[in-house]
Amino acid sequence: MKVLVTGGAGYIGSVVAAQLLDAGHSVVIYDNLSKGSTHAVPVGAKLVVGDVGNRDRLRELFDAQEFDAVMHFAAWIEAGESMKEPERFFRNNSANALTLLEVMLEKGVKRFVFSSTAALFGDPERIPIEEDDPLRPTNAYGESKLLVEKMLSWFHRIHGLSYASLRYFNAAGATAERGEAHHPETHLIPLILQVAAGTRQSISIFGTDYNTPDGTCVRDYIHITDLASAHLLALDALAKRDDAAALIYNLGNGRGFSVREVIEAARRVTGHAIPAVENARRPGDPAVLVASSEKIRRELGWKPQYAELEAIIQSAWEWAQRNPNGYEG
Ligand code: UDP
Repeated sequence: MKVLVTGGAGYIGSVVAAQLLDAGHSVVIYDNLSKGSTHAVPVGAKLVVGDVGNRDRLRELFDAQEFDAVMHFAAWIEAGESMKEPERFFRNNSANALTLLEVMLEKGVKRFVFSSTAALFGDPERIPIEEDDPLRPTNAYGESKLLVEKMLSWFHRIHGLSYASLRYFNAAGATAERGEAHHPETHLIPLILQVAAGTRQSISIFGTDYNTPDGTCVRDYIHITDLASAHLLALDALAKRDDAAALIYNLGNGRGFSVREVIEAARRVTGHAIPAVENARRPGDPAVLVASSEKIRRELGWKPQYAELEAIIQSAWEWAQRNPNGYEG
């Protein structure tokens, strides 16, 4: 298939693009490079630099070649930031996704794989979280993605759009070539590893008074390779169906680790002391997010290879040591 990957120069998009190429698909990456890096773009993928909000540019892109599917990763992801400037998230994540979908519909491209998030669930009523559980985001980031899921559902019903929405829990870890390098970095594991590498003094624990066993937030960390393989399965599932599909899957390992447990695991993996400082809660953070991924296992045969947190951190640590400045040399 010929696949357009928006945000394919970013952390998750680039790993998916590499797997698509390995599986024999043809890949065009569309990325404005505001966060991503050309160094993350896999050999064999064509990079087009552009913004998802640029309707004319998208039209040109779709006129120049026929895509069998679009995978949409380009978005802001910082939950904490979204509680300071929600408008940026609604513009970039929701409005721009609508522009992309409108151009796809105009040009007759009907398969869409969407980067969704566990942040849709807010504070869940039960753990592990299943796909049909209530969607009540506690941060604007989650809301910005929920708006897109709602659009997808209507475009499916009205226009026959065939889509898969993959709700990532906490993407982590690295492949040999690609890892997590956000600027500025806001994610727990890469920040912890900066402390281990000596480029940051301490890791800040955001909140120690949550209703969890050790008072810190619990998350479900999933390796980037496993996350990526789910996208290929979803694409195949969309391609096999004659009718329009609406596939929604949670993606996690089904096990939760607290912030303190992640720091402890990183101490074991790296052998560094990793000083931690207790701080106030970060606004908008739910206490516990752990996925049930039974549905994608059952329906698409997804099998994660990295179930262990230490193995996930180990892969991130190896990448961080080989790339101390991320992709910037
Ligand atoms: N966190 C933290 N210190 C940091 C960064 C994150 O304690 O410097 C916590 C954060 O509050 C959340 C968890 O680690 O409970 C995971 O946060 P991250 O930003 O990595 O992912 P999110 O769960 O927001 O997608």
